[in-house]
Amino acid sequence: AAKRAGGNMHCFYEPGMDHDAEAAVELQRDLRTALETGQGLSLHYQPKIDSASGQIAGVEALLRWQHPQRGAVSPVVFIPVAERFGLIGALGQWVIDEAARQIQAWRGAGLSMRVAINVSVHQLRQPDLVDRVGEILARHGVPPDLITFELTESAAMEDPSATLRIFERLAVTGVALSIDDFGTGYSSLSYLRKLPASQIKIDRSFVQDLGSQSDARAIVKAVIKLSHALGLEVVAEGVETVAQQDILKQLGCDQMQGFLFARPMPATHLQLWALSDEVPANRPTFRDSVFN
Ligand code: C2E
Ligand code: MG
Ligand code: MG
Ligand code: MG
Repeated sequence: AAKRAGGNMHCFYEPGMDHDAEAAVELQRDLRTALETGQGLSLHYQPKIDSASGQIAGVEALLRWQHPQRGAVSPVVFIPVAERFGLIGALGQWVIDEAARQIQAWRGAGLSMRVAINVSVHQLRQPDLVDRVGEILARHGVPPDLITFELTESAAMEDPSATLRIFERLAVTGVALSIDDFGTGYSSLSYLRKLPASQIKIDRSFVQDLGSQSDARAIVKAVIKLSHALGLEVVAEGVETVAQQDILKQLGCDQMQGFLFARPMPATHLQLWALSDEVPANRPTFRDSVFN
């Protein structure tokens, strides 16, 4: 256990420990309340942009929590708390349900939008996940091909054979699968070939270094070539500059996502953004949106 905790080991010796532990217990209690009442939880949506056309190819749903006292708490903080305290199953289900509801609301407004949902490896371990996903989609009447699940490469690699089994069962339901934060999880070529994923997302760290470091460019180039050879679509995450966009386009990256195009935004804003997609010049920009 000591080895797995790695760089975080020092926190066990810090005087702040009691405070940290207490804060986590408080957070899980408040998160439980939020789940029970549905208050304070929402999804924001960040577009994935088709590199060739500049059109919106879909969106990624990102969970937001407005804490009654603390204000906005980052998912980087509360998702691990939810995992640790056994809340991730319920939270993950809330996310899938809310995304499905939103997809139908958008369809009612004439907008057919693909939505990618992040899933935690803890969620994948729920034995009834596949049934529950099927139940939620059926209840809302959502066509499964509008749903993509994103799982990080490192999460997939925690138990590669278990991931493969669950992916295979999920794929049968008709949802698409995407490998998130790719390049940081050390998956093998033979493993990638076996996974029924249709998309990989190149980790932001590689995108960040694209302009300045030639090895980052070489890695991204190789990843795109390899992925295309395996029939996978490639998305670059964290695109913030036109220089990065230009290089990625040159290297044949299929889709891009990042603050350069749009920050995650509430559903109503996304709808405006997407419906004015035909005329990019008229598209309201939310680059500087306060929502994130
Ligand atoms: P992720 O799935 O890799 O999502 C991308 C994160 O990068 C998001 O942070 C997004 O706001 C941020 N981002 C997007 N474009 C840019 C950019 O150009 N520059 C920079 N610096 N950042 C950018 P966010 O929303 O704080 O989410 C963080 C992580 O929390 C996500 O990483 C995901 O792993 C997790 N997460 C979020 N929502 C959910 C959820 O519903 N379920 C689960 N299991 N995890 C979630
Ligand atoms: Mg993601
Ligand atoms: Mg990511
Ligand atoms: Mg990431």
